[in-house]
Amino acid sequence: MIPYKQETRLQGIPVSDGVAVARVCLFNEDRHNNLAANRVEGEGAEREWGRVERAIKLAIGRLEALKRDVAEKIGKAESEIFTVQQMILNDEKLQAEIRQALEEKAAPAEVAVAAVFEAYEQRLKSLDSEPLRDRASDIGEIKRRVLDLLSDMNPSLMCDGQDHCQRGRNRIVVAAELTPTLALELDTADIKGFVTERGGKTSHAAILARALGIPAVTGLAGVHGLVGCGTEVLLNGHTGEVIFWPSEQAKAAIPALRNKVKAESEPMDPVPGLAVMANLSSAADAEEALAFRAEGVGLYRTEFEFFAAGRLLSEDEQYERYRRVVERMAGRPVTFRLIDIGGDKTAPFFGLERETNPYLGFRGSRLLLAREDLLVPQARALARAARHGPVQVLYPMIVDLDQFRLMRSRFDEATAGLDARALRHGIMFEVPSACLQAQPILAEADFGSIGTNDLIQYLFAVDRNNDRVSYDFVPERPVLWTVIGQVARAGLDAGKPVSICGEIAADPHFVPRILEAGIAIVSVSPRWIPAVRRAAAARK
Ligand code: PEP
Ligand code: MG
Repeated sequence: MIPYKQETRLQGIPVSDGVAVARVCLFNEDRHNNLAANRVEGEGAEREWGRVERAIKLAIGRLEALKRDVAEKIGKAESEIFTVQQMILNDEKLQAEIRQALEEKAAPAEVAVAAVFEAYEQRLKSLDSEPLRDRASDIGEIKRRVLDLLSDMNPSLMCDGQDHCQRGRNRIVVAAELTPTLALELDTADIKGFVTERGGKTSHAAILARALGIPAVTGLAGVHGLVGCGTEVLLNGHTGEVIFWPSEQAKAAIPALRNKVKAESEPMDPVPGLAVMANLSSAADAEEALAFRAEGVGLYRTEFEFFAAGRLLSEDEQYERYRRVVERMAGRPVTFRLIDIGGDKTAPFFGLERETNPYLGFRGSRLLLAREDLLVPQARALARAARHGPVQVLYPMIVDLDQFRLMRSRFDEATAGLDARALRHGIMFEVPSACLQAQPILAEADFGSIGTNDLIQYLFAVDRNNDRVSYDFVPERPVLWTVIGQVARAGLDAGKPVSICGEIAADPHFVPRILEAGIAIVSVSPRWIPAVRRAAAARK
């Protein structure tokens, strides 16, 4: 543990720019591990039981809604998992055990609930049968559901016995690992920063943090055990420095650091030679894209709309969001990437099975080919949105020309009866095999976009989320530029535009190389547009 009020500097990996100073909110899947254990006796125990009953009732109600949604959008069989969770919560024996624990331990509701569920979890984990051992994770999930509800009902819940955390509001969230779902589960509008133990620069959570303008530093091993809720921390997302209990002197330097960041992000008009478009993760981001004078949307990661909603979206719901962006962009092209889930982007409502190697598993277009329930409503919503302005459809993780053809025909089947002629269809070049086939693919596709985040991952066999191997995630490697050059050349030969929408495009340092490779369009998070344009304008 870092000594109280003793300035301590640690160096991590900077993943999202900006400077923040605030108190820590410890947050991860184990967030309910350090529960206050003040004694609750007599009438207090009855009150605590009342809280447990209310939380269980609420949890059952929420599971009912989730179940309906999943049954409707995915299938009845998949929704059964939530029926099982409801049955567990309704179990009289379990409820009696919680009540008994409340009395015996004279503890608050959170402590009794955690103790009873953890005992069940342990028993299941020690069994010989694998299917039963797997159920232990269900118990963990139910426990977190109930504890989350209990803490919502009790905003003064003491986290770590020191301070109350309120889901990161006005705090710097310290988490073991940040996942997109976790990031969206928090009140991101009010979070001051993220510090994590694990996670690479191109992990989706880091991309989200940058898009939201939340400073973040990763790669601080063991940080969870070093600080408590309430520790003061200064975070520099530009250099990766994290200072716990910063001195007055360290804090006094913040305005100058902030001014520097601000000066570099003043909006700038388009520059000749490089079109700079915006990467969006929600319809609301269109406002920022306009504020930074984006020349269009080069990548709209539509899956994030689903994560934000916490459920599948219907055709109409998607159409409303897409139309809004197309209208706001007023005639500039908007590139919608079809739902790209799998890898680090999962959520229970997608009903995906757990895989040993999800990055090489059921994801991207491979998954969409098997999931009409996802492809059909989205294709139709896009065809309808195209009535309001230029819409481009981007196919994720395409492996080869045959797969692209198959996706195209599925898209056409899905939109039969709608006028989808105005749509343009392009592919993400992010799997090496597709890059090697760029020529025949671009003879048929209308455009291409190079996703360097995944391309680097698959080209060099280096996990984009793993900071332990980040020394191998090196965009400078000549092989990457050979591949980018080949795809760009294929685009020029076929007369089809090819852009880069991976994170390297947002790094001004790579702009000259991107232009030399023959790429004239990039797409980046809106707030990086000025820096990229400045770098392009500075090039002789
Ligand atoms: C990429 O892989 O470079 C890309 C832009 O897509 P994502 O980061 O969403 O995987
Ligand atoms: Mg990708």
